[in-house]
Amino acid sequence: MMTIKTAEEIELMRISGRILGSILGELGRTTKAGMTTLEINDKAEALMAEHKVQSSFKGYHGFPAVICSAVNSEVVHGIPTNYVLKDGDIVTIDCGVIYKKFHSDSAITVLIGNVEESKKAFVYATQKALEKALTVLKPGARVGDIGFAVQQYIEKRGYSIVRDYVGHGIGRSMHEDPQIPNFGQRGKGPLLTPGMAIAIEPITIMGERFTETLPDDWTVVSRDGTSACQIEHTIAITPTGYEVLTARDGNINNVFPQ
Ligand code: MG
Ligand code: MG
Repeated sequence: MMTIKTAEEIELMRISGRILGSILGELGRTTKAGMTTLEINDKAEALMAEHKVQSSFKGYHGFPAVICSAVNSEVVHGIPTNYVLKDGDIVTIDCGVIYKKFHSDSAITVLIGNVEESKKAFVYATQKALEKALTVLKPGARVGDIGFAVQQYIEKRGYSIVRDYVGHGIGRSMHEDPQIPNFGQRGKGPLLTPGMAIAIEPITIMGERFTETLPDDWTVVSRDGTSACQIEHTIAITPTGYEVLTARDGNINNVFPQ
């Protein structure tokens, strides 16, 4: 179901998003070589307790953690493990919180130590693709405009868009209508209207777009073993354009470290 939020509901989502932005900012600044993805998860859980918010992810269809971690060829829905991050890895941290019943959902990608230039360029392109999508957001635009902007930017650089996982409406549920694919045609799809809240999340692979799910039934990896990336923000459509609810004091760059 698609929901249009009142100004009061958007204000709750703004607080939810601001808290999530600050949690991810802290994780982005402190995630380093030598840490396990489970340690990142535990830190996220402690920060949520500090901010008095609940996890959107833990228990969702039985998911066991408060973050999804995705290292290198892992794409989405990775369960944190004892894997020790090492120099040259890229790790996506996807996280969702609930504040007064309202969800926010955002993902950052952390470059661990010295990452190969080609991989770095790929991660920054995924961030840039999300920024390109923002430029089309206004009442009267359509969901296809978002997908078109993301797809154009990514495919022009020789990378791929994952088709099996998409962005989504968000509010009292983490996943609401409409779906927000990272591919599409300009002028097609549902209309964007003020009071909508959506998660835009380009999910990209350096090589081919195909994915498979590991035997844990959650962790999705690229089929060709090349690196994957995801960058996500929760965004409200306003009467004049949009507002990134999960920004950190206006900063929307979700690639760390700076
Ligand atoms: Mg997410
Ligand atoms: Mg999402």
